[in-house]
Amino acid sequence: MTKKTRQQCAVCLLLLLGPAGALRAADDLAAEQTVRCYVSPHYLLYTDLPERDAREALERLTAMYELYRRFAPAPDEGLAKLPVYLYRRFEKYRQSFRPGERLNAGRYDGVALRAVLDGETFSPPDVWRVIQHEGWHQYSHRLLGRSASTPLWLEEGLAEYFAAAVWKDGELHTGTIDVGAYVLRGEAIVLQPGRLQRVQTRIRTGQFRPLEKLVTMSPDEWRQQVNPVNHDQVWSFTHFLLHAGQGRRRESLKAYLADVLRDPPAEPEKALAIFRTHFGGDPADLQNEYESWWLAQPVPPEVE
Ligand SMILES: [Zn+2]
Repeated sequence: MTKKTRQQCAVCLLLLLGPAGALRAADDLAAEQTVRCYVSPHYLLYTDLPERDAREALERLTAMYELYRRFAPAPDEGLAKLPVYLYRRFEKYRQSFRPGERLNAGRYDGVALRAVLDGETFSPPDVWRVIQHEGWHQYSHRLLGRSASTPLWLEEGLAEYFAAAVWKDGELHTGTIDVGAYVLRGEAIVLQPGRLQRVQTRIRTGQFRPLEKLVTMSPDEWRQQVNPVNHDQVWSFTHFLLHAGQGRRRESLKAYLADVLRDPPAEPEKALAIFRTHFGGDPADLQNEYESWWLAQPVPPEVE
């Protein structure tokens, strides 16, 4: 371990402990003697997970980073490793935040990504979805220089797209759509609808914003809508841009991302103009195509 890495690990420890209750937490951690810092080419993973789980987590984090990098290469790679803190117990995770904060399974706080993998409070697949979502925010902020003026729909849409990637056979597979799962109900095996059916319902019932509003949306406007609707819209729109028509807009999306990172549009008019440059003149045409594409996606039968 180099001197610089040791220093970075020391920083990790301080962040893991957090400003509040640091001394008590330090005593607890020292007593358990299970917190270790694992170093990968891209991450410093600070965790009290058993070593085998920690190494698997590092493998998944590396695959996640490679996914981000394939989509958006970072210009200053190698300058800093990204800190990640994975907690084995919810209580320890909770102690790293201010008292009373409402917590989900993970969060990027502007420096570090923290998540809890206790297997009791949250299911591991749910936690990894959150890690893959928050991991993109960390990558785009720390390595791509994303700012407050970077279009929110794109930042959240990509985060949701990467969150939906499935870990299988040592690889992260993107582009899968949750079409639901069969469950036993009474004596019948019935389909419990997935995200596909939810998106189709939201389109049919007009729950989503018009695209023109979506691509110019401010953080305040984002907060006016409830989160599952927001996330379903930005995910489905991003997925559509990356996969519809054999992915013919994939390169446009990458070019658009590079443009808005280089020159973040501060005003809605400018945001719309950049969007039009990459995706065509009339957002209403694209909206029709997006809606038709999603409504045409096949849904499995309701009863197996
Ligand atoms: Zn997010």
